[in-house]
Amino acid sequence: MYRTHNCGELRKEHIGEKVTLCGWVQLKRDKGGMIWLDLRDRYGITQLAAEETNTDRGIISKIDKTGREFVIKVSGEVIERFSKNDKIPTGDIEIKIESLEILSESEIPPFTIIDNTDGGDELRMKYRYLDIRRTPVKNALLLRHRMAQEVRKYLDSQSFIEIETPYLIKSTPEGARDFVVPSRMNPGEFYALPQSPQTFKQLLMIAGMDRYFQIVKCFRDEDLRADRQPEFTQIDCEMSFVEQNDILKIFEGLTKYLFKSVKDIDINYYFPRMTYSEAMEKYGNDKPDIRFGMTITNITENVQGKEFVVFDSAEYIGGICLGNGSEYTRKQIDDLTEFVKIPQIGAKGLVYCKYNTDGSFKSSVDKFYTADDWKTIAAKMGATQGDLILILAGEKERTLHGLSELRLKLGNELGLRPRDTYAPLWVIEFPLLEWDKESSRYHAKHHPFTSPFDEDIPLFDSDPAKIRAKAYDLVINGIEIGGGSIRIFNRSLQEKMFKNLGFSKEDAEAQFGFLMNAFKFGAPPHGGIALGFDRLCALFGGSDSIRDYIAFPKNNSGRDVMIDSPSTISQAQLNELGIILGEVK
Ligand code: ASP
Repeated sequence: MYRTHNCGELRKEHIGEKVTLCGWVQLKRDKGGMIWLDLRDRYGITQLAAEETNTDRGIISKIDKTGREFVIKVSGEVIERFSKNDKIPTGDIEIKIESLEILSESEIPPFTIIDNTDGGDELRMKYRYLDIRRTPVKNALLLRHRMAQEVRKYLDSQSFIEIETPYLIKSTPEGARDFVVPSRMNPGEFYALPQSPQTFKQLLMIAGMDRYFQIVKCFRDEDLRADRQPEFTQIDCEMSFVEQNDILKIFEGLTKYLFKSVKDIDINYYFPRMTYSEAMEKYGNDKPDIRFGMTITNITENVQGKEFVVFDSAEYIGGICLGNGSEYTRKQIDDLTEFVKIPQIGAKGLVYCKYNTDGSFKSSVDKFYTADDWKTIAAKMGATQGDLILILAGEKERTLHGLSELRLKLGNELGLRPRDTYAPLWVIEFPLLEWDKESSRYHAKHHPFTSPFDEDIPLFDSDPAKIRAKAYDLVINGIEIGGGSIRIFNRSLQEKMFKNLGFSKEDAEAQFGFLMNAFKFGAPPHGGIALGFDRLCALFGGSDSIRDYIAFPKNNSGRDVMIDSPSTISQAQLNELGIILGEVK
């Protein structure tokens, strides 16, 4: 038998018992004739002790040989510790070593395996199996496990059934590039890895399964950011005979259930619902962080016509108001101005006006605006004495984006975005289509299977950009946690949609014939949603990076530096697949 207990289990009640533990040596200390070892496993750390003079020489020499990260098996008596450690649950006791066996030796690890490690990112990823031994990473995986169990419990209780869908499929147009896989048995042909199981889950509804879910890997060949990975996990769901409200209710329920069961947080209110256009107008963003105010006000009509060319020539002028900001120094305002000029925001400048506590105004454009003008602007923005008004002008979409970024930056700096406060909401009524300048055609804002509002269908022929979609996103703290839609379930509407997306009849048939065909055989009204599981875990764990919650993540270039992938394959493999490598064009 390897062990009687694990390393996180022993307490005062066990004093006097003979036990056997196994684990990794985290630390060895040698002081005044005593040797202590910290023995670690997944469950915790237990201190082992040996008194040099009273312990068998054989044991002492084995302890001498033992170094960091050696795997050992130790037997001995549980005794009370002389100096207790209240930072760990086993801190009242230690094991008096009576036998010790080295099960596996270790080289000196490339970084110290402790909570605050000295290992850099790349090194930790290269030796991810060592990184996972560290408590923060281990705890992240435990949290992920707990979340997955709770998701299953809740969805099962709501009659969802878990069904696996294939990974080797035909591409689904989710908007990103597909990863493709050649097929030896079908030379010249390729599978695609699913960007999501979208078409399959719809087919499962046509198959009568009624409620489907899957915690599933999805693959998108996109440029990576901190919260993106080429392969990531979704909680993917689909339901039959539902309207938008039914879906929001179930998944609001899931979110609340997870907060309660995993974090013991009660959310006793309905999640607010905000239309896409309201989110864009007020927050400049379709995933607003509503933990704090500082919303955007459109002041275009209040500031134009005063001879200030920058404003007069702008499509849109908007402002945010910083409570008690009139005390901001020149330097602080200069920093904000520099911020809005960074290329990602691209504003030409920042106009400010201090609404001083004595009721006077001091702005960067005093030449053009009187105190009365500012009074009107301040009233429109809800600014009061002591506030700072910050204004950006330019092309509407870009300016709203700039204001959004400025707002979020100020929110961070002012501590208005605390990690342990959660503000969920639904963003609804997205546009169905989005005009893409580059390709001069409409793209589906969500995906091509999303249903338009019934009353907007005639707009296909007059003003497609105005069509609203039965689509919704779940947003928490400015993070898009998930999104979904009510689907089109009738062949002719689906054809119309493809046509508007620029598909020829033949292309639509070649790519989606299987789904369109299925619509011929009795498709129920249906809809669904997918939640980003990695993101949800990161949010619950209080981290910005989903990588912390993935056991073996890829780096920013999409590489797995541990197994060194992607990698070349042999000529024999290429020959078998009939692939000749050329230059990337
Ligand atoms: N398949 C969609 C996505 O991955 C979600 C959905 O519409 O259910 O974004």
